[in-house]
Amino acid sequence: MTVIIDGKAVSKRIKDELKELVANKKAQGKTACLAVIQVGNDPASSVYVNNKKKACEYIGIGSKSYELKEETSQEELLSLIDSLNEDDDVSGILVQLPLPGHINEDTVIRRISPKKDVDGFHPMSVGALSIGEDGFVSCTPQGVIELLKRYDIEISGKECVVVGRSNIVGKPMAMLLLRENGTVTLCHSKTRDLKAVCKRADILVVAVGKPKLIDHEYVKEGAVVIDVGIHRMENGKLCGDVDYEDVYDLCSAITPVPGGVGPMTIAMLMKNCCKNL
Ligand code: NAD
Repeated sequence: MTVIIDGKAVSKRIKDELKELVANKKAQGKTACLAVIQVGNDPASSVYVNNKKKACEYIGIGSKSYELKEETSQEELLSLIDSLNEDDDVSGILVQLPLPGHINEDTVIRRISPKKDVDGFHPMSVGALSIGEDGFVSCTPQGVIELLKRYDIEISGKECVVVGRSNIVGKPMAMLLLRENGTVTLCHSKTRDLKAVCKRADILVVAVGKPKLIDHEYVKEGAVVIDVGIHRMENGKLCGDVDYEDVYDLCSAITPVPGGVGPMTIAMLMKNCCKNL
């Protein structure tokens, strides 16, 4: 029987645990506050930003919201970040990506203090992860590890294959699986014979951004399949990078889309916001 990994339920449980933690800390006079900056009014970004604010409210984390005009200059954005870095009431800073073309994302990410880098994108955070030091970890891959742990899926010694090498998902995913003592292979668009490499995996994590790329030919019998991808199909329904119906019977466990990895990203962001409480 294939286990369907219920990210929605796990995410709710984590948010409830954090709610309790935040209430306890509040009683000791300690609070957390997330500053969210959005530049322009891209509708998808507005939905993400709103969901983050709602999650903060649910847990009891304060939130400050900065909705800046599309034409905001890079200097103005950097000076806002400087002031939030200095603000003792603010424990986390998040700049919603993507930014308008005239603003350099790398420069902005580097300006956020690593102490408040709740997205885990700053090179200091990435470096800390790669050498096994404490620091903020990118939310989506952290959410995948949390799902595996909460479903008692052993990582140590397992053959783990990650497809996709982006800075925000694939690379930190590989580092985290390595930290958990998995034997990790990181695949990308230049990987030769992707099917054969994926077929070795006990745990296959897919983050390529290609709808239903991974079908039964890529999956070993009994594998755990984690689908990070999310796409809206022509019929309006969502699908992942994995052809769910096609691989379902082969897997020992699988994340659905929606309701798998997606809800975990925001739960891990909230966890990061509470990290230094
Ligand atoms: P990206 O476009 O930055 O990176 C994609 C990676 O896949 C690249 O490294 C590329 O080399 C690799 N790739 C592309 N085509 C390939 C192929 N045919 N074979 C092998 N490798 C290939 O994407 P990303 O930001 O890592 O996101 C990946 C997917 O995850 C997207 O669908 C995105 O929407 C989704 N995503 C979901 C969440 C979430 O919270 N669930 C968060 C971030 C991203």
